[in-house]
Amino acid sequence: MATHNLLLLPGDGIGPEVMAEVERLIAFLSKKSRAEFRIETDLCGGAAIDKHGVPLADETLAKARKADAIVFGSVGGPKWDKVKYENRPEAGLLKLRKELDLFANLRPAICYPALAEASSLRREHIEGLDILILRELTGGTYFGEPKEIVTLEDGQKRAVDTTVYTTREIERIVRVAFDLARKRSKKVHSAEKRNVMKTGVLWNEVTTAVHKKEGQDIELHHILADACAMQLVRNPKQFDVIVCDNLFGDMLSDQAAMLTGSIGMLPSAALGAPDPATGKSKALYEPVHGSAPDIAGQGIANPIAEIASFGMALRYSCDMVKEADLIDKAIANTLARGLRTGDIMQPNMRKVSTSEMGRAIVEDMEKLVA
Ligand code: NAD
Repeated sequence: MATHNLLLLPGDGIGPEVMAEVERLIAFLSKKSRAEFRIETDLCGGAAIDKHGVPLADETLAKARKADAIVFGSVGGPKWDKVKYENRPEAGLLKLRKELDLFANLRPAICYPALAEASSLRREHIEGLDILILRELTGGTYFGEPKEIVTLEDGQKRAVDTTVYTTREIERIVRVAFDLARKRSKKVHSAEKRNVMKTGVLWNEVTTAVHKKEGQDIELHHILADACAMQLVRNPKQFDVIVCDNLFGDMLSDQAAMLTGSIGMLPSAALGAPDPATGKSKALYEPVHGSAPDIAGQGIANPIAEIASFGMALRYSCDMVKEADLIDKAIANTLARGLRTGDIMQPNMRKVSTSEMGRAIVEDMEKLVA
């Protein structure tokens, strides 16, 4: 039986509450002898500031480097609002992404049939929706230099952000897109703005070249990022994998995600390059939501985003695709049975707590494997 080394970083606010439901799932999978998990749990964000004075201690980073996957909760909250900017809770997460070079951000947008009514689009457009936005996470407009605001001679200010991409950065994210598409429907849309941006021209050229050389089994479409935003609302089911740069990915993934309902439902993954020796990538899995200080400590947070993030860890880091599918099925079944946390509550449904939702999902998995 394979052994997987997981580092759990629950963080702050509702992070530990939703992580408890992942621990319940790990206990279930271990009991069923589906795999052996070696678990370490550590502090990150505000909780780490309280204990170590920094949002990510060196020893935690060392554990993260060794782990097969990091399962992350959420960080931040008003308690740490006055902490120095470089030391704020979120800096712990950013440091993890940077130190492990987690350049590929996977954001699935899946519409569970039971929640189709919660979308702002009509049911026929989103029922059965299952798309994956792949965002380049460590380059582009958010990191390019110069990045500054300068005061001009006449007293006006001038702000500059710089969008930079190299061939290598584009090649490696496109390869990830093709690899992911091979496990899905083998269709990739590459979104850029080649009509007005030089980075768009290079993005398009490099994507075409990688496709020609290594991706002939993939159906590749080039689409302008603004047209992609429009098509996501007009006919989202035409897409499967969408790959794009950091800035467009930020926008498109939020847009795609909200087609499917609440922020409490959305998982994500950030992957690094595969190790040439082992083929394994560094990886961090986390819900899209934050620490939700407004509901923390009440036991009412929706644990599905965290549970689905753990499902992604099984799929992409642990080679446990069957178990990942099982989790997705159990989430769908539990919602179909009418269980709802407050954020996704609908008329005539049964309102449940964080732990009741987590327990119901595990009970459904029990039935599915019986
Ligand atoms: P948030 O995602 O924490 O909350 C936004 C709204 O969604 C709130 O009303 C919250 O109650 C609700 N919500 C979020 N997750 C939910 C869940 N699982 N179940 C039910 N309702 C849920 O975003 P925010 O309020 O802008 O930020 C709060 C704190 O979290 C800030 O300190 C922010 O910096 C931090 N944050 C952290 C991360 C991260 O750790 N990756 C991401 C975003 C925000």
